[in-house]
Amino acid sequence: MRIGLYPGSFDPITNGHIDIIKRSLVLVDRLVIAIGISATKTPLFSFEQREAMLQAEIGPLAEKLGVEMQVISFQDLLVNVARDQGAQLIIRGLRNGEDFEYEAQMTAMNRTMASEIETVFLSASPETAHISSTLVRQILSMKGDISPFVPKSVLDNL
Ligand code: ADP
Repeated sequence: MRIGLYPGSFDPITNGHIDIIKRSLVLVDRLVIAIGISATKTPLFSFEQREAMLQAEIGPLAEKLGVEMQVISFQDLLVNVARDQGAQLIIRGLRNGEDFEYEAQMTAMNRTMASEIETVFLSASPETAHISSTLVRQILSMKGDISPFVPKSVLDNL
């Protein structure tokens, strides 16, 4: 069984994340979406809210495609999470050169620690490549309209 791990903060989930998740469903039999929990930062949405939103947005498509989907939280080293989940693949989205620089370095270090786990990069779709959770949070904090950047379930939960 091919198992993929898609890690991130997802605070909030954006249309960019949804794009990467939908496209990764065709690559795996089981997709584990791993939400990183920071001990110091207070998130916009709780883990339970983010899990419910991801299930609402992706659950039906995953079921239709026959892919098992699970949402977990994590605080540990990513390669250990991947091993615990039995994942052969770590999935990451790439928006630009800056993402690439960061991800390439992290991937190389992860491969040194866990050579059996492959990182797969999906290039962001042009329609959503400009979106970042950080900017969405900033717009929200200044009472701006975030509806072009996030899925409906996020808007419903605000
Ligand atoms: P992190 O906290 O590691 O930056 P994020 O939650 O922002 O995690 O993102 C998780 C993953 O989704 C990362 O691989 C990131 O590059 C990718 N990602 C974030 N936004 C987009 C987007 N708009 N398009 C494609 N991939 C994205």
